[in-house]
Order: sequence, then structure tokens, then C-alpha cells
Amino acid sequence: MKKISPVTKLASTLACAAMLACVPAAFASGSGHDAPAVAVKSAEGTIKAAVSGNDQFTSHNDSHHFDGFQTGQTPTLTVVTCSDSRVHTHLFGMEPDNNIFVIRNIGNQVKNAEGSVDYGVRHLPTNILMIMGHSSCGAVKAAMGDYSGETKGIKAELDTLKPVIAAGDNSGDINARWSKNVERNVDYQVKSALELYKEKVQAKELTVVGAVYDFNDLYGKGRGRLVITNINGETNPAKIMAHPVLKELNRGEIVNHVGSLAPAL
Ligand SMILES: [Zn+2]
Repeated sequence: MKKISPVTKLASTLACAAMLACVPAAFASGSGHDAPAVAVKSAEGTIKAAVSGNDQFTSHNDSHHFDGFQTGQTPTLTVVTCSDSRVHTHLFGMEPDNNIFVIRNIGNQVKNAEGSVDYGVRHLPTNILMIMGHSSCGAVKAAMGDYSGETKGIKAELDTLKPVIAAGDNSGDINARWSKNVERNVDYQVKSALELYKEKVQAKELTVVGAVYDFNDLYGKGRGRLVITNINGETNPAKIMAHPVLKELNRGEIVNHVGSLAPAL
């Protein structure tokens, strides 16, 4: 049986509790992809889990754990990803502390968080900007339907996905279109990033990587895979595979982690 760390479990519990409290109809997962797990926890139980979990965290990480970043941070990876509770940086298998600068919002959008992305890319600065979408993204599905009944804030953050939906074809069933639109959204966000950081990419100071975290195995590479679908605007898998930024990956890693479901916009 897979062992789940207390910290991982805590993060999932907190995110699930938050989602259960506010998930609107337009974000419902619907048919086709796996139904969401239902976990009910009281507010008091959630706070108890957070505090107890933090005690476990500090007992596993003594004060020396924090020695290297008392006065500043030195991450190498900026990630723009979705707020979805099923998506967390532990998927990278690396220590996230002081290594990964994370920006999250619904639909992993660059322009909805431009200042935060600027901070990671221009001030820290990291040499990789990854835009990471995910399978079964509720924001993408919501943007494909009628979300007129949502709050002003949610509507504003879904309106910015309209160009992605408008550019998509109407072939296939809803789930096929949904999955393609997740990838098209990544392409669209990469395009936005390339407009913002063109000079850094041209100077080879920055590589913009588009990826999908696929926990539904839609790309046929196994559940939980990080699938790279775009590098600096290149969406042809064969050309992505040959990109110099992947030169330290072996052939098996490249085959398992590069793919495409949708033609570029
Ligand atoms: Zn999402």
C-alpha cells in the first residue's frame, strides 16, 4: 500500500476541505473522467489536522532544514499551475523548499498573475518557467460551458480562457474536447509568457516549458505523469524531444514525458 506522508495528507485534506466548501456547479467534473473523491471534515477537524500536521512537519524538519534560506530564496524553477487540490509540487519528487517558486490560480493563467510570474522570472530569477495544466481541469471545463451564474471574480478569471475555447475544434465528445482544451490552454499560456519574456528567451536566459500533469492517463503514459507538450512555443513532440533543454534525459524519460493530444492553436 502506498505510504502517504503526513504533510502530503495534510495538504490534500486542507485543499479538499476548501474545495468542498466552495466548488460551484460550473466546475463539477461531470461524466467521463474519474468522479472526485468525497471527503467530509468539520472546520474544527481541519484546523486540528493543520496544526498537528505542522507539528509533524517541524519534528521531521529540525531548525537546520531552514538554515539555507533564512534571508532569501534561490529557486531554479518557476511554475504556474492550477489551484486544483489534486495538483501539488510533490509530483516533481524534489524538495520544494527554496527550489520551486509557485504561482497558482484557476486554469494556470499567466496574465491573471503577471506580477507574480514577473517576480519569478525577472527578480529571482529562475531559468525555467513551467506552465503546468492538468487533466480534468475544472476551470477549463467551466470555460467551455455556461458560467454566467458564477461570481464576478470567477467570471473574470474564466473570461480570460475564452480565446482558448474559441480556437478549439468541435470534434469528439465533451471529454475529448476537454482534454484537448487543457493542452491548448497550456499552449496559450506559453504564448502569453513568450510575449512577456521574449528577450530573455532569445538570450537563452529563460526556457518556457508547457506541460500537463496527467493523473487520468489520458496521454497513455501512466497516471501521475508530467507530460511536456510545449517548449518555447514548439508543440511538435518530435521537435520537443530534440530540444537541448532535455539533453540530460535518457531516451526512456523522453518517451515517457513528451506528448501531445491536440494540434497547436
Ligand atoms: Zn484546474
